[in-house]
Amino acid sequence: MLINFELRFFLLKTNFIVFISVCLLRAFLIIHDCSFIFAFDFSNIFMIDTYRHKGLRKKLVEQIFDKGISNSSVLDAIGRVPRHLFMDSGFIEFAYRDKAFPIGAGQTISQPYTVAFQTELLDVKKHEKVLEIGTGSGYQCAILLELGAKVYTIERQRELYLKSRALLTKIGYKPYFYYGDGYAGLPKNAPFDKILITAGAPEIPQELLKQLKIGGRMVVPIGDSKGQVMIAIDRINENEFKKSEHGYFSFVPMLKGRQ
Ligand code: SAH
Repeated sequence: MLINFELRFFLLKTNFIVFISVCLLRAFLIIHDCSFIFAFDFSNIFMIDTYRHKGLRKKLVEQIFDKGISNSSVLDAIGRVPRHLFMDSGFIEFAYRDKAFPIGAGQTISQPYTVAFQTELLDVKKHEKVLEIGTGSGYQCAILLELGAKVYTIERQRELYLKSRALLTKIGYKPYFYYGDGYAGLPKNAPFDKILITAGAPEIPQELLKQLKIGGRMVVPIGDSKGQVMIAIDRINENEFKKSEHGYFSFVPMLKGRQ
C-alpha cells in the first residue's frame, strides 16, 4: 500500500515536471520566434497533400494575384501544384511563401511569383510544344504541364535531373526529360511553339532561336549575376524576331556544359 502510494506520487511528480518543461520550451520557442518548429511535418516525405497545404496554396495564389498576375489558368495551376513536394525541407511554411528556396547542387526553386510571371508571359496554350531550359526542382515544369502543354525539359546538373525525374514521375507528371546542356536545345524535336529559359543567360542563345516556330515565343532572363531583364522574343518569320522587355528579376546563371 505504502509502495503503491509512493509510486503514484513519483509518477505524478514526473508528469508535472514533464508538463512544466514542455510549457517552458514552447514559451521559449514562441519568444524567440522559432514558431516554424511547430510547422515541421513529414508530408513531403510521404507525398501527402493535405487541406492545410491547399489552404496555404490558396493564400499564395491570392498574393500572386495581388502582385499583378491575372491569367486565371496560370493562377489555377499554381493552386493545383503541391509545391511542398518539390522541396527538401519539411517546413511547409517555406513552401508556400512567395520566395525562392535552395534545392541542392547550389540551385533554387524559383519564387512562385516569378514562375507565374514567366508562364503568363509565355502565353501557353493547350497541346503546345514547350521547351524548358533548367528543370531544377521540376516545379515550373509541373505548372506548364497543368496548362496542357507537351513539355520537353533539360537540366545540366545530373543530381537534379535524376531527382526531378523521379519526383515528377511519382506524382503523375509526364514531360520528356533530358540531361544535357540547354544551350544546344533539342534540334531533333524542334521546332517548339514556346521556349522558356529558367536561368539567367548572359545573352540570347542563338541556337535556341533557331528552334522556335514561326509565330512562337521565347521567354528568357538576360543579364549577369547582379540581375536580369525578362525578355520575350516573338518569331515573326524565318529571319525576323520582335523583342520586348518585362522588368528585372534575379535567377541563377545559365551555364555551359553538363555536370
Ligand atoms: N525551373 C526550375 C528553376 C531552377 S533554377 C524550377 O522550377 O525549380 C535554374 C536551373 O537551370 C538550375 O537547376 C540549373 O542547373 C539549370 N541550368 C543552368 N544552366 C543550364 C543549361 N545550360 N542547361 C540546362 N539547365 C541549366
